[in-house]
Amino acid sequence: MNERAYFDWNATAPLRPEARAAMVAALGLTGNASSVHAEGRAARQLIENARVQVAALLGAEASHVTFTSGATEANMLALSPAVTTGGRKGLRGKLFFAATEHPSVRAGGRFPADKIEELAVGRDGLVDLHALKEALAGAERPLVSVMLANNETGVIQPIAEIAGIVHEAGGLLHVDAVQGAGRILCRMDELGADLLTLSSHKLGGPQGAGALICGRGIQIEEPLIRGGGQERGLRAGTENVAAIAGFGAACAAALAVRQPAAARMAALRDRLEAGLKAIAPEVVIFGAGAPRLPNTSLFAVPGAKAETALIAFDLSGIALSSGSACSSGKVQVSAVLAAMGVEPELARGALRASLGWTTTENEVDNLLNAWRNVVSSLLKKQTQEGIAA
Ligand code: PMP
Repeated sequence: MNERAYFDWNATAPLRPEARAAMVAALGLTGNASSVHAEGRAARQLIENARVQVAALLGAEASHVTFTSGATEANMLALSPAVTTGGRKGLRGKLFFAATEHPSVRAGGRFPADKIEELAVGRDGLVDLHALKEALAGAERPLVSVMLANNETGVIQPIAEIAGIVHEAGGLLHVDAVQGAGRILCRMDELGADLLTLSSHKLGGPQGAGALICGRGIQIEEPLIRGGGQERGLRAGTENVAAIAGFGAACAAALAVRQPAAARMAALRDRLEAGLKAIAPEVVIFGAGAPRLPNTSLFAVPGAKAETALIAFDLSGIALSSGSACSSGKVQVSAVLAAMGVEPELARGALRASLGWTTTENEVDNLLNAWRNVVSSLLKKQTQEGIAA
């Protein structure tokens, strides 16, 4: 019996040893980071060290990092009419986001429902830049949210180009960089992002930590949680020191190995996709024509049902996902694939394999062996159905 092989890194990644060590050390301390005594100052020091580590991953300034409970909360904090470049008179008029954004962006944050507009994507999953320009023409002080890379397909958006269009229109750009950070180059200045969201657990830090990074001069006038004034008044509540320390350590580790890790993952992903096609030439790989993350592959064969395939994979020791973790469990067609114009029948069979820094060639080959069985039992079923009909 094979060891289990984990291919669901986009849902959550294993804790990096560096993050675990930082968390264990932090859990050994007693101290509220707001206290002035030595114990409190030691807790504060861990948080401020982590802030430097998170900022370094993005080429940002540490003082621009606000820690949150995760990316969902960071998106909620960012997507507010009260994001300004100075004073309340700068309130945002409308929020625009790409149709393939994560549900935590598509929920619209703190904008009222009548101030939200969706931006179309093409069949490749890329934001239609022409449609973006048209949507923003005449929009007053828009806030635009486009993710760096999609959690289901891995498709990478041309963020720098989008930033140019948004700024030209007098708007600000928020980038959900949850899936891109640590995997591809993700610097605030090169992306042209005004606000950027990160999640700890996709980078090898613990679940339940994240951050919003505000670019120079960007202010959020409306706190998300009022109370004791922590995190520069934006997010009150005693900080989760151990989680933040683990998040910081994960960012430092991810930055140190990003390039070799990406090259390794891309080679394994290519081996996987070549194998999927060799076994089932009719397989469709979504977003394959666009730039994609080195670790993500979303695929389907016509006629397959993702739920059945997922169970078969699981029984063979392979952990896959049927798209985003947030929508798995519900029998729903992926909103991402729907936005890309994929026929619902095909979308229902979509399976996501996402790789990480410990994935091996052997694990990929085990996935492919399981795929061979899934595809052949599917073909057998189709033939039987054909006879029955
Ligand atoms: N944005 C994207 C692109 C994601 O993939 C996720 C996690 N599925 C989130 C936001 C939410 O992150 P968190 O789990 O930290 O709230």
